[in-house]
Amino acid sequence: MKKIVVGNWKMNGSLKLCEEFINHLKVSDAVEIVICPSFLHIEKLVSHMTGVHIGAQNCSEFNSGSHTGDISCAMLRELGVKYVIVGHSERNESINLILQKIERCLENHLIPIICIDSTENVRLFKDFEKLSLIAYEPRASIGSGLVASNDDITQTFQDIKSIANFKILYGGSVNSQNIVNLKMIHELNGVLVGGASLKIDEFNLILQNIV
Ligand code: PEP
Repeated sequence: MKKIVVGNWKMNGSLKLCEEFINHLKVSDAVEIVICPSFLHIEKLVSHMTGVHIGAQNCSEFNSGSHTGDISCAMLRELGVKYVIVGHSERNESINLILQKIERCLENHLIPIICIDSTENVRLFKDFEKLSLIAYEPRASIGSGLVASNDDITQTFQDIKSIANFKILYGGSVNSQNIVNLKMIHELNGVLVGGASLKIDEFNLILQNIV
């Protein structure tokens, strides 16, 4: 099965970085690539890139209305977005909010990438197992350089799989070197990459080394 590599630019990136990705990203049939830039950079990437899916980093829990500053799933879908990161730990969202956002994604035919740092709530996502991805991101591993061990990740993935047959990504300090070890994890369907997704050469190496 094709591995999925998701780049989460967070509140980083620029028109210049978009140009670099448009001109230098090494797209291949071997990997499904999803780039999640800021809302402002989505349209540029959608209109200039092929062979890549564009994702959003968040969405509103509402479909429309008086919610100043929010972006709805319908708006994202209209722009050509396919995936939405939901419930990233940096957003500190409640499980109720996360569930509402997942529902809005699904109503609008977007694939939620549901971020978890433990298996606590996985049962609540069971109905969406074929329609979403789970990204297991231990908090201590995000942005710290401390990648979880393959044994820890395997145990968590098996716990998740015992609840439902999700596709599961690992996220937390993934780079072009540690991916060589991470890809040995049998249940790994792909990775969610933060910091290392902001450097085109490093991101290209991750795409190369995950295969
Ligand atoms: C993330 O924020 O989703 C993430 C995995 O970040 P990093 O790769 O920088 O740890």
